[in-house]
Amino acid sequence: MADCLFCKIAAKQIPAKVAYEDDEVIAFDDINPAAPVHVLVVPKKHIATLNDAQPGDAQVLGKLMTAAAQVAADRGIAGSGWRVTVNVGKDAHQLVFHVHLHLMGGRPFGWPPG
Ligand code: 5GP
Ligand code: ZN
Repeated sequence: MADCLFCKIAAKQIPAKVAYEDDEVIAFDDINPAAPVHVLVVPKKHIATLNDAQPGDAQVLGKLMTAAAQVAADRGIAGSGWRVTVNVGKDAHQLVFHVHLHLMGGRPFGWPPG
């Protein structure tokens, strides 16, 4: 999608610190990290929010999870623990309308989240 920040990062039109990449998924460090490890895991295909996901997107959405686990292992937090968050819409504070997992770890988190 032409005017989408994460499409531009996936197309390498905007630089990012890439943590993982394959043909369908790219993961990169969040520019404003909320934890020692804070990586965004993104489908290369533009899907605005999980509200817009179609049955045919299930495979790539699953790949986001396995990519997150790979990055967690690579960053050394598989054993200490980590969290995946997906914000959907206004109440969840979604700011970038291209689906992304927040992979966060390297410190303890509270529950429930704020
Ligand atoms: P959301 O609130 O939509 O779930 O999360 C969007 C995330 O994107 C935020 O954590 C924010 O820090 C991150 N972000 C916004 N702009 C950029 C950018 O230009 N580069 C990177 N790497 N992350 C960004
Ligand atoms: Zn996009």
